[in-house]
Order: sequence, then structure tokens, then C-alpha cells
Amino acid sequence: MASDNARRYRGRFAPSPTGPLHFGSLVAAVGSFLDARAHGGEWLIRMEDLDRPREVTGAAQDILRTLDAFGLHPDSETVYQHQRGDLYQQALEQLEATGHVYPCACSRRDIQRLADAGYTPGIYPGTCRNGLPPGRPARSMRLRVPELAIRFHDRLQGGFDEWLSQSCGDFVLKRADGLFAYQLAVVVDDAAQGITDVVRGADLLDSTARQILLHQLLGQPVPRYLHLPVAANRQGEKLSKQTGAAPVDAARPVETLWTVLEFLGQSPPQGLRSAGLAVFWRWALDNWDTRHLPPRRLIKQH
Ligand code: GLU
Repeated sequence: MASDNARRYRGRFAPSPTGPLHFGSLVAAVGSFLDARAHGGEWLIRMEDLDRPREVTGAAQDILRTLDAFGLHPDSETVYQHQRGDLYQQALEQLEATGHVYPCACSRRDIQRLADAGYTPGIYPGTCRNGLPPGRPARSMRLRVPELAIRFHDRLQGGFDEWLSQSCGDFVLKRADGLFAYQLAVVVDDAAQGITDVVRGADLLDSTARQILLHQLLGQPVPRYLHLPVAANRQGEKLSKQTGAAPVDAARPVETLWTVLEFLGQSPPQGLRSAGLAVFWRWALDNWDTRHLPPRRLIKQH
């Protein structure tokens, strides 16, 4: 296999089709696109539609149409996670065969009860780690996290040192409803698609150590990471469908893209606001400079 350094840059944007594209998701799309292109690399789109119950009908098509209207054209066909169950199953079996996975009988309510009894909330207390309690059927599959620190360097946010046993404990790879967890799917797909660089919102920094561990256990190269600041509303809440973020205006793409570039610290000139898409992208690519990205996790929008 080629060494990490020799692998050609390949980036991606991985939206979840839970609603139309809003400013916050466009920031991740633009940042990942520009960073890939500025490195002479490829950029892919992956539709993260594993959680079909949460999916909004028509949202995937709407997101793709909007990206296209903004001139964000991928270098190969869009991949849909709901069609890739076999790959996730294979990875789960590989981890099972090497003793890293165990079945878990705990429901959310069981875990909540333990939290009420004094265990740290948000950290799985390991009830089923050494076997299912008698008479209880398996509900989910969990990864046994090792007692060691996961160390990584984010190109923007700096160095991290995370003990998963203290931040989340053994985490779910296959859920009680039979769906594969995001953490497993994202790692399997990033490897299968040859992604060298993950550029996405800083809300996903919390997931990064789990994903690095999975890459390592599956024997896959670990991508580089760059976590962009996340756009928040005036109350400091991340823009999302839940916080009522407005869909981006695809009728005036350059105006919107200009605001994204400014958010990303790239100081686009005023005159670029009224340029055509091709001129806009030329300027954005020629001037993309990660040293100007604000090294923050959250930026309020006014
Ligand atoms: N699908 C995830 C989201 O929309 C992003 C996953 C990723 O970029 O790793 O939040």
C-alpha cells in the first residue's frame, strides 16, 4: 500500500439528509471543497442517510441540487450510506473476530438508571463488558475501548489527547434498532473511499478520537483532520434544523458563498460579491489559506 504521504489528497462532504442545506452545512461543504482543490485533490459527496427514520423525504435531492447550483461539483458519483450495509457488517465482523466487540443488553433506561445512581452520565459503565446478564438478550454491539490515550493533531484546532474510557466508554457500533452507528459507517466509508483529509465542523471533534481508534483497529490509514468553526445563532446554538436555521438561498449563490468565505477568515474583496460563479471560485481557490481560518470551535452569526 502507498504510504500516507504518497496518497493523493481526497476530501469529502458528508451531509445527513435531515433537511435543506443551511449556512452551517455550507461552511463545511465550501471548506472541504476548497481545501481539496487547493491541494490539487479530489472532492467527493457522501450522503449519510443511514438513519432512515430521521431522514426528511426529498432532502438528499434538495441538498445535491443546491450544491450543484453553488458550483460545488464532486469528482465522482455520490455515495449513499443506506446502500453500504454489507461493508459495515464486514467491518463489524472483523472487529468481532479480533475480540474488540461485545453484545450489550442495556437499554437507554438501564444506562440512565445507573447515571441516576452516581455513574458519570454519558460514559457507558461497562455493565455487559464481561458477558450479558443472565436472561437478558443482546440489543446492541459495543466496541471495547482500550485504556490508552488517543492522540491526534487537528490542522486548525491543535493537539488532543483523549482517553475514551473517560469521555464515552465502550461505544455502540450497531444500535438496538439494527442500524449501524455513524461512528462505524463514517470510518468504513472514509477508508473505502480513500479519504486522506477530513474537513468538517468542530462539533465533530468529540467523535474524532473514536473514529481514529476504529481506523487503527481496522488496520486502515488514519486521515488528517481539520475542524472548522461551527456557525451558531445569537443564542450560541449551532445552526441546525432543530435550531430553525434557514435554508441557504440558492438563487443568489455568490452572495451566500462570499459570506461563507468571510466566515472562514479569507477576507474576500467586496467586489467579489457581484461576480459570477466562475470568477468567485477562481478567487476563492487562488486565495485559500488555512492560516487565516479562525482557530475557534464556534462563531456566532449576527
Ligand atoms: N453526516 C455528518 C453530519 O452531517 C457529518 C459527518 C462527517 O463529516 O464526518 O453532521
